[in-house]
Amino acid sequence: MEFLEKLFSLKGKTAVVTGGAQGIGKVVSSYLAGAGADIVIFDLQLEAAENVAEEITKERNVRACAFYCDVTNPDMVDKTIAEAAQKMGGLDILFNNAGICQHKSALEVTSEEWLKVINVNLNGVFYMARAFGKYLIENGRKGSIINTASMSGTIVNIPQEQASYNSSKAAVKHLTKSLAVEWSKKGVRVNSISPGYIKTEMTGTVRQDWQNFWTGLIPFGRMGLPEELAGAVIYLASDASTYTSGCDMIIDGCFTSI
Ligand code: NDP
Repeated sequence: MEFLEKLFSLKGKTAVVTGGAQGIGKVVSSYLAGAGADIVIFDLQLEAAENVAEEITKERNVRACAFYCDVTNPDMVDKTIAEAAQKMGGLDILFNNAGICQHKSALEVTSEEWLKVINVNLNGVFYMARAFGKYLIENGRKGSIINTASMSGTIVNIPQEQASYNSSKAAVKHLTKSLAVEWSKKGVRVNSISPGYIKTEMTGTVRQDWQNFWTGLIPFGRMGLPEELAGAVIYLASDASTYTSGCDMIIDGCFTSI
């Protein structure tokens, strides 16, 4: 066990998690803390994020705090990263995870709706990664960024029509590779995870007949749980993955294998 602890330990590191007030971000925050990391949550839901931070502090015996941060606002992103770095004494890991989905067909989606999805899922991920990478590089720190893409960046989901979401996630995968190469000699690794259908607030509110349809298509015969993504994020955040950058890890119960 000592061997494994050393390999995957995040002790002495601080992780920023966007969208950590609920869903995947909330659960993965708790697991990152379980691996020893101090946690900073950025979210639009400040009260919920503060509650998550409080729970993590109690359960995992690490430091944790929360900030209101809209990832689509680049000035707020820069400022909040600086505040978090000062408060925690340094930052090392970014789980760049906040995202939204709209089920709108290409013929029906308005320009505003299209822009909203692209703004959170692509621009927001870029603003966070840019500010975090800049912080690490200017401070001579090594670090790891893990972006949440989606299997929707690889396949087109059915029956729901969601071109804005699918396009934004395909872009996140390529942004990940582009940043990984740009920062390859600067000690900053950038990878992404691409979850399949995962049970969260985002998917739980979708009409039941669609959820049943998805489950019927998934070779595992069920949706995944946020917990089932945590090991991949810990691996990519830890020194177990020091030669891994520009990688997209698909975690989808075999959905994209068929
Ligand atoms: P949730 O909707 O459950 O949680 C997302 C969190 O991000 C919410 O707290 C949300 O706040 C917050 N958020 C949204 N917009 C912003 C913003 N502009 N700035 C800061 N925080 C914001 O989603 P999931 O946990 O299901 O998804 C997390 C990530 O995983 C997303 O990127 C999603 O696309 C991706 N993903 C999810 C899958 C799934 O099946 N669940 C599958 C594949 C990928 P608020 O509620 O106020 O909007």
